[in-house]
Amino acid sequence: MERILSLHFLFAVMFFTITVNGNTENASTREKYEVIIVGAGISGIGAATHLLNNNISDIAILEASNRLGGRVYTAPFGDYLIEYGAQWVHGQGGNPVYKIAEPYNFLYVQTWNITKGLVKHSDSKINTSVASSWLFEEALRFFDNGNDMMLCNCSLEYYFNSRFNELIKNRNVDEYTAQAVADQARKCQSVQDGAGNLDEEGSWGNSQYFVPNGSLTVAWKTGYHSFINMLMGKYEGKELPVEQKTKFNKVVQTINWTGNEVEITCEDGSHYFADHVIVTVSLGVLKFSAKKMFNPPLPDNKLTAIESLGFDVVNKIFIQFETHWWPLDFEYNLIFLWSNEDKQRFKTESKYGGWATEVISFHFVENQPRILEGWVTGDTARLIETLSDDELTGAVIELLNWFVGNEYSISKPINITRSSWASNHFIRGSYSFRTVKSDRLGYSASDILAEPLLFNKTNPVVLFAGEASNDKSFATVHGALETGWREAARILNF
Ligand SMILES: Cc1cc2nc3c(=O)[nH]c(=O)nc-3n(C[C@H](O)[C@H](O)[C@H](O)COP(=O)(O)OP(=O)(O)OC[C@H]3O[C@@H](n4cnc5c(N)ncnc54)[C@H](O)[C@@H]3O)c2cc1C
Repeated sequence: MERILSLHFLFAVMFFTITVNGNTENASTREKYEVIIVGAGISGIGAATHLLNNNISDIAILEASNRLGGRVYTAPFGDYLIEYGAQWVHGQGGNPVYKIAEPYNFLYVQTWNITKGLVKHSDSKINTSVASSWLFEEALRFFDNGNDMMLCNCSLEYYFNSRFNELIKNRNVDEYTAQAVADQARKCQSVQDGAGNLDEEGSWGNSQYFVPNGSLTVAWKTGYHSFINMLMGKYEGKELPVEQKTKFNKVVQTINWTGNEVEITCEDGSHYFADHVIVTVSLGVLKFSAKKMFNPPLPDNKLTAIESLGFDVVNKIFIQFETHWWPLDFEYNLIFLWSNEDKQRFKTESKYGGWATEVISFHFVENQPRILEGWVTGDTARLIETLSDDELTGAVIELLNWFVGNEYSISKPINITRSSWASNHFIRGSYSFRTVKSDRLGYSASDILAEPLLFNKTNPVVLFAGEASNDKSFATVHGALETGWREAARILNF
């Protein structure tokens, strides 16, 4: 174990020395490139490496933050590395991230027995044996039924409620268990889809998501940032100059595409010019700034697509304990079951406002024996970004005590951190999803998002990549990568 930890440390130090950068350019800067990429997330890096591999080297990446990766964000926490953003490679067959990473032996399949961790308060009326023997699993299975979701063409909330009510009809399920399981199944889906609640989500659009074969939870032994190194060829000893081509702390403010040369102005007043610009900023950033970023303005159908696709918040909480207090002999999960009655009681007794009833789960983190990782979405995800470390720790410990305080002696928490994807101005949320509104538009909003802006009807001068512009693999790292490749190829084929 010690060897693993020191390796992790080494990676962490290397990671930070290579990614934190400054710029010397200022308001008088006026540089010209063949291609400029806005954003150094996976789609931006994917576009850059594809261009470099195809002998287009007159490129620059303008990145608002001080690091590569965007929503891939591996960082040290205590003695360990954690993932604030993307964590798993979702699928094996048909997933380009898996295909690239598999030969390096940096991946392993994480196995989950989702029904094993269901917990309730000791006085609760919920019947956990009904929940864990069949009800929870069958409830979750509705979300895998793409055909049924497509035919329903309704909100995911309506879809789920109607199927779930049908499921429990004439079965021996009491109201507490039924309500608690339905509540948890909805939460699991909302964290998977990145939606605050299922009312907004469209069942048709979500049924269009392509699920690659194999395990959906393939994890990294070395942190997801290793994938960036792989894309750049770092482990091959022939690293592409992606980092050298990236200008950090460059917040792109306006993109003027009136002519066949695009002018980009950054917040610090610097100007850049290019024949082609690939915009890879998140849907959250586009929702916030698309109307003022482009001159001439974006076409109406693109603005409508940006407005109608969904982008909410998922956040993670990492808490480190003095000693591990949970058994290490199985993969530890706590998936919380709440009846409305239990929630009410918890809220009345809580010293921290009772928001923790909305925490979806806490689970072990592989190779990190003293850390538990929790998940929250929507308003609760936004709320935790505003809390002090003490408030957050207090609420988490109160929650853990409520559920398993009788069973385990919970050791002292010594460190806590959380992701803050909503208040990160360069992301403004977590990942995109299809809404009832985007489904009702009757076309694939992602396709419209992906359409380039043409000069003289033929020259793609402004191109769009990023996970939200992938019509089949949105919300994923592999989806983001594919869009970067797609737009680089569009330029190469022009
Ligand atoms: C909590 C969480 C968990 C996730 N889990 C998984 C998972 O397990 N598996 C998976 O496959 N996917 C997961 N994802 C989704 C995945 O991380 C994203 O789909 C993918 O990383 C998006 O890449 P991107 O290049 O499209 O966008 P981004 O990563 O958002 O990159 C865009 C870049 O643009 C920069 N930028 C923004 N505005 C400007 C500006 N004005 N000027 C210049 N630069 C700007 C940003 O700083 C950023 O670096 C998760 C995401 C989150 C948040």
